[in-house]
Amino acid sequence: MKPAPFEYQCPATLADAVALLASRAGGAKLLAGGQSLMPVLNFRLAAPSLLVDLNRIPGLDGIALGADGVRLGAMVRWRAIERDPRLAAAHPLLKEAVSHVAHYQIRNRGTVGGSLAHADPAAELPGVAVACDGEIAILGPKGERTVKAADFFTGPLATVLQDDEIVTSLHLPAWPRDRRWALLEFARRRGDFAMAGVALFYDRDATGRARNAHVGVFGACARPHRLAAAEACIDGGILDEAAILAAARAAAGSVDPPEDFHASAAYRRNLVEVLTERALRHAAS
Ligand SMILES: Cc1cc2nc3c(=O)[nH]c(=O)nc-3n(C[C@H](O)[C@H](O)[C@H](O)COP(=O)(O)OP(=O)(O)OC[C@H]3O[C@@H](n4cnc5c(N)ncnc54)[C@H](O)[C@@H]3O)c2cc1C
Repeated sequence: MKPAPFEYQCPATLADAVALLASRAGGAKLLAGGQSLMPVLNFRLAAPSLLVDLNRIPGLDGIALGADGVRLGAMVRWRAIERDPRLAAAHPLLKEAVSHVAHYQIRNRGTVGGSLAHADPAAELPGVAVACDGEIAILGPKGERTVKAADFFTGPLATVLQDDEIVTSLHLPAWPRDRRWALLEFARRRGDFAMAGVALFYDRDATGRARNAHVGVFGACARPHRLAAAEACIDGGILDEAAILAAARAAAGSVDPPEDFHASAAYRRNLVEVLTERALRHAAS
């Protein structure tokens, strides 16, 4: 199918883009990389009267590294993250996550802001944003606001974004150089959305004990979230075999996976356990 007819505007400033969105009271949609929006339009799952193209607005595609972490502009494309050599040290978990996103044609176009706003529960970046306590900057008619990634996603393809708001950037807190981490996912084919994925990290204190454990899950739940019960099995102890197995069991017990034609809920729950166990072994080694 082809999309229903729509008007197209290509503003030069964010303020103009916000004004255009506000002018249609829910009837307008932003166009970033188009990799999720165009299928939605072609299937006529949405029929906006206006598309507001973000691609000509300067200043949205920067990757800024500072003492406080990494800031990714909304129009940063997957390819730019993959190709930025600084990120291997500044945020290896982010870089690893993006290597699992789709295929290179899609990675040439898809953007940070589009992925966050689309809020696919199986998408990697939302999973990393939540696991890392990221913050999402949003601009609307009333000005700017910042929302914790953990509060941004409300369900499958659902967020706290209003119809007239634009994601402008994602901030990920600073990443200590010797942090232990891993991101593992299971998908039917390379580049497919994950049936389940786990992004985790922890730091080690002078005695070798794990501190600041973060275990995030995506693909096996309605929205990405952290698994507090698994984190509690890791925090404050030595990450030995018993702790790894306990954390993996706790992770599986903390998810309420969806059931669909790809996999049963039990299968996805098992994936979460296996992926958590493997990811912790990987991180520990
Ligand atoms: C075959 C295929 C496989 C894929 N596999 C994966 C995968 O494995 N993992 C993965 O994470 N993704 C995957 N994707 C999705 C891909 O990463 C998309 O690029 C991404 O989800 C959306 O980014 P986009 O820039 O293309 O957004 P668009 O398609 O342009 O927009 C998506 C939605 O977000 C809104 N939007 C866009 N930008 C903003 C903004 N700045 N502020 C507010 N709203 C905004 C749009 O209005 C629209 O509703 C896949 C896509 C395809 C087609």
